[in-house]
Amino acid sequence: MKKQPFVTKQKLDEIIKEYPTPFHLYDEKGIRANAQAVKEAFSWNPGFREYFAVKATPNPFILNILKEYGCGCDCASLTELMLADALHFKGEEIMFSSNDTPAEEFVFADKIGATINLDDFSHIEFLEKAIGHIPETISCRFNPGGVYEISNGIMDNPGDAKYGFTKEQIIEGYKILKEKGAKKFGIHAFLVSNTVTNDYYPALARTLFELVVEIKEKTGCEISFINLSGGVGVAYKPDQTPNDIRVIGEGVRKVYEEILVPAGMGDVAIYTEMGRFMLAPYGCLVTTAIHEKMTYKDYIGVDACAVDLMRPAIYGAYHHITVMGKEDEPCDHKYDVTGSLCENCDKFAVDRMLPKVDIGDVLVIHDAGAHGYSMGYNYNGKLKHAEILLKEDGSTQMIRRAETPRDYFKTFDCFDILKDMQFPNEQ
Ligand SMILES: *Cc1c(COP(=O)(O)O)cnc(C)c1O
Repeated sequence: MKKQPFVTKQKLDEIIKEYPTPFHLYDEKGIRANAQAVKEAFSWNPGFREYFAVKATPNPFILNILKEYGCGCDCASLTELMLADALHFKGEEIMFSSNDTPAEEFVFADKIGATINLDDFSHIEFLEKAIGHIPETISCRFNPGGVYEISNGIMDNPGDAKYGFTKEQIIEGYKILKEKGAKKFGIHAFLVSNTVTNDYYPALARTLFELVVEIKEKTGCEISFINLSGGVGVAYKPDQTPNDIRVIGEGVRKVYEEILVPAGMGDVAIYTEMGRFMLAPYGCLVTTAIHEKMTYKDYIGVDACAVDLMRPAIYGAYHHITVMGKEDEPCDHKYDVTGSLCENCDKFAVDRMLPKVDIGDVLVIHDAGAHGYSMGYNYNGKLKHAEILLKEDGSTQMIRRAETPRDYFKTFDCFDILKDMQFPNEQ
């Protein structure tokens, strides 16, 4: 399938006149249509809620759009909790699925009424010490170990992942939590990342549904919510078939009717914590070609770098690139598309066939709406760029300004160095 940007060249040229590249651009229309589809796909389950994984796109404007569709927030750190709280998400709309958690983060999560999803057996005691009690509503994260297989083969290796309780631990854990006064129990598992198959959630649902039936028998704890977490992926590559959330929702419903309803558990709520599926396709990184370098390979240097989008640099992830205005030209040039970091992995694409790129061409790097801006860092003292929302009516709104050198140096503000510093961008 041909991957097309959600914005036309004409529109993008207009936007660039107002906001110089590079920037992240988000598509409000796409975000809304997808959030609505998710809501409908699980509407068969009255308790359903998607807790958007804040780490994917921690922007208040984006979170507020998702809130209109009933989404809550899945947080894993103090600042993510602070953001959700500041946007007036209610306690029951905040899931705290953290790991290696500092005590003070449990304290804050408890204070704002978030649902705490424990990552480890030892955290039962740790949490009780930290907050002085065990909350009435509590969730535990399960890790089945081994390799996780579904009909189309091995998907991932949970046995190697740092997350979650073993089966024996989780059964023992619920018994202890119950003794300590917990009344409402949840279970969570995140076994495979970026799955591009409609079968992952239904398979995970089966694993968890069978387990909760066993937990009820062995511990007397009735699980009241089952959190399928994240892992529903997107088609980064043009030859992949995107997931169909309606098919996924229907697949989960079938397993629910097959296992939970006969076990007398037909009132269990299904939760999800998708990040990538909610946002990745509806954001892109817009950048301009500023150099061409021909040595042993042909390099196009752009004005964005791995600081804006790290996935290619850290995982060799594929992100599709469209050279705006050249969509119909033959892809007969082979390039590495690079950023300016002093790191050879700072490449958005390696040996990518593209139309001939000229200096000044605008490149759209697709599917950067999740785990894009948020994963960025400040290596080489590179500053983070702005985030722009393309609204439904075609207008734009800056939803985060670009960092300035003052932002970058502000943690030295208790020293003298700032008074001797020149700020060339402030003249
Ligand atoms: C990262 C994460 C998610 C979201 O994952 P996606 O693959 O973006 O859907 C959900 N839950 C937890 C606990 C996570 O760490």
